[in-house]
Amino acid sequence: MARVYNFSAGPAVLPEEVLREAAEEMLDYRGCGMSVMEMSHRSGVYDTIIKEAEADLRTLLKIPDHYKVLFLQGGASLLFASVPMNLMKNRKAGYILTGQWAKKAFAEAKIYGEAVELASSADKTFSYIPDCSDLPVTEDMDYVYICENNTIYGTKFHKLPDTKGKILVSDVSSCFLSEPVDISAYGMLYAGVQKNVGPAGTQIVIIREDLLTDDVLPGTPTMMKFKTHADNDSLYNTPPCYGIYICGKVFKWLLKNGGLEEMRKLNEKKAGILYDFLDTSRLFRGTVRKEDRSLMNVPFVTGSDETDAKFIKEASAAGFVNLKGHRTVGGMRASIYNAMPVEGVEKLVAFMKDFEDKI
Ligand SMILES: *Cc1c(COP(=O)(O)O)cnc(C)c1O
Repeated sequence: MARVYNFSAGPAVLPEEVLREAAEEMLDYRGCGMSVMEMSHRSGVYDTIIKEAEADLRTLLKIPDHYKVLFLQGGASLLFASVPMNLMKNRKAGYILTGQWAKKAFAEAKIYGEAVELASSADKTFSYIPDCSDLPVTEDMDYVYICENNTIYGTKFHKLPDTKGKILVSDVSSCFLSEPVDISAYGMLYAGVQKNVGPAGTQIVIIREDLLTDDVLPGTPTMMKFKTHADNDSLYNTPPCYGIYICGKVFKWLLKNGGLEEMRKLNEKKAGILYDFLDTSRLFRGTVRKEDRSLMNVPFVTGSDETDAKFIKEASAAGFVNLKGHRTVGGMRASIYNAMPVEGVEKLVAFMKDFEDKI
């Protein structure tokens, strides 16, 4: 069996230890004689799995008691609609446009009300985070929306915007659990777990309790009302059982490895190795303004499409896979999520140096 260094943006690398454990439990989960995929979500065994997952997540993120954790499905993209359906009481909200995912959320919100562009970095291909210290937020806006880590462009809000008292809604899909965060700064944050935490198909929402109401936009499906899932501890219907089980294992792996403080250190170390190289390389360069660089997604280019293609091909043959940039931006992108070992980044940089010397 040969495992590659997988730099995919998502679905992405998971801790090998977690995969091995899941494999061991595949046919017989702890003496049940069946796999987690085959058991009732109403069983006592499964109840322990989902409750432990939530408890461990609460420990990792120090989630205050007045925030609910929801395990949902439908893709992070479905939440682009659920957010306005549940929170756009005045039918007006402000959006900060820092890339494709923010733009998609913005377009979706326009179906339900007035979505206002508060700031944008579209003028420079989303290569930076716009100044958010004095946004044109108005009194009648229900919330301010951001995509906190821009998976495609490799930017990250290192400081949250001043929302002028309005609640902040944040898509944290590609930076979830990569470092400690202050949950109380948000009204709601959410993540599709396939970027940094688990298998595609599960989304995690963390939402302040007072935002959970029956007062949603007319026509909101029962399944898209956050309160439905909050009232039923994410067991209103069959949840993405297996995905939650794997997430639970990743939470335990994170706790065992020092929690989010330790993850931040490791992620800073890994990103540092790669950015330091990009800053001194004769061939490669990063595409993001330095102060806005993401710890998770690192886009870079050589300046020549031909050389980019050659690099991606040779890297792949050497066991460094999924380095091709997003189809809309080209170049390369190394996603270096929690489960990417330091050694993987060191070896990638050594390979890049070698490639540069030979060209
Ligand atoms: C991948 C991604 C999405 C979309 O996730 P789906 O689960 O495919 O809908 C949304 N936001 C961000 C930041 C992402 O990285």
